[in-house]
Amino acid sequence: MNWEIDEDALIAWRRDIHANPELGFHETRTSGLVAELLEGYGIEVTRPTPTSVVGLLRGARPGRTVALRADMDALPVEEETGEPFSSKVPGVMHACGHDTHTAMLLAAAKTLAGLRDELAGNVTFLFQHAEEHPPGGAVEIVAAGALGGVDGVFGLHVMNQKAGTVTIARGAASTAYDGGMLTIQGRGSHGSMPQHGIDPVVVGSEIVLALQTVVSRSIAPDHFAVVTVGSFNSGEAPNIIPDTAHLALSVRTTNPEDRETVGRRVREIIAGVCAVHGATYTLDWEPGYEAIQQDDGAAELAFGAAATALGEDRVAWGPGTSASEDFSVYAARVPGCFIFFGGGDESEGFPFQNHHPKFNVKESALIDGARLEVQIALDFLAAE
Ligand SMILES: [Zn+2]
Ligand SMILES: [Zn+2]
Repeated sequence: MNWEIDEDALIAWRRDIHANPELGFHETRTSGLVAELLEGYGIEVTRPTPTSVVGLLRGARPGRTVALRADMDALPVEEETGEPFSSKVPGVMHACGHDTHTAMLLAAAKTLAGLRDELAGNVTFLFQHAEEHPPGGAVEIVAAGALGGVDGVFGLHVMNQKAGTVTIARGAASTAYDGGMLTIQGRGSHGSMPQHGIDPVVVGSEIVLALQTVVSRSIAPDHFAVVTVGSFNSGEAPNIIPDTAHLALSVRTTNPEDRETVGRRVREIIAGVCAVHGATYTLDWEPGYEAIQQDDGAAELAFGAAATALGEDRVAWGPGTSASEDFSVYAARVPGCFIFFGGGDESEGFPFQNHHPKFNVKESALIDGARLEVQIALDFLAAE
């Protein structure tokens, strides 16, 4: 089977989308562009939400269905790359590379549409809105039924690693994130008369220290878990015992049972320490994205496709990221694999990480990302 990627179109789309970034749930222009292009290639288009697009390419013969996913949202960041195609929107930038994800998947869709007569099975293209903010767009796409009939799901993310290289994690590819705001209600008093008060500074301090035992005493030593108190605010004067204290907590885990355990221990410690001191509290706990759990078979298939499309020397097994991603929503329902794709590293003139105002990618690598997506789809549909 002979095929190629329309690199000129890919780069032009990337620059156009990069120059016109849109925040999550506001991807009106981007999703309109995607829908129009897919329809032009004869791909059946549905719009599960106002700013997301799902495309279905039906092959000439029956077979399995593989889904490829790209996210389309930008970030509230003021761009500082100095590129001629820099963001035209003040304070909004494609600082996570979702412009490149969208352009690469469009290029892959164009190529696959041209191969329709040779395909046994279908390809679903998930152009997702709002990845950057939990609860995220993937939940809505799945709720709309876009994974119906899908047998495998794949997505890639540009990362600050050597351009055109591929890293695939086994097991967890990202972490689950949960966080909360804790307000401790004590009783204010004169600083010289502590016996009349309930000091929320002391209560909060005990909670911070006790939380350090959650990971060290309740989680297996070879599991990943982090509990962080990122802020602690209370009081204003040396001679006043304040009424309240406010703490912000975040938790990251990769194992669902650990996630449950850490969340439970955090609550127990807060409740217990407050009770001992006669304080009360409110805890606004926001569950974030779950960890991406890679399917072994899907990861092996992606690894093999990367070796075929890009060469064995450019693909390696590696660790997951400590960040979180809502690709986890798809991978929890359908066997899936999330792939880290090199957009260039410091030695190539790309020293900045995703979300930095100067984050950028080596454009010549993007054709390889599109090649990889096409190869994954072909390999998946060819496999039994
Ligand atoms: Zn991001
Ligand atoms: Zn991202």
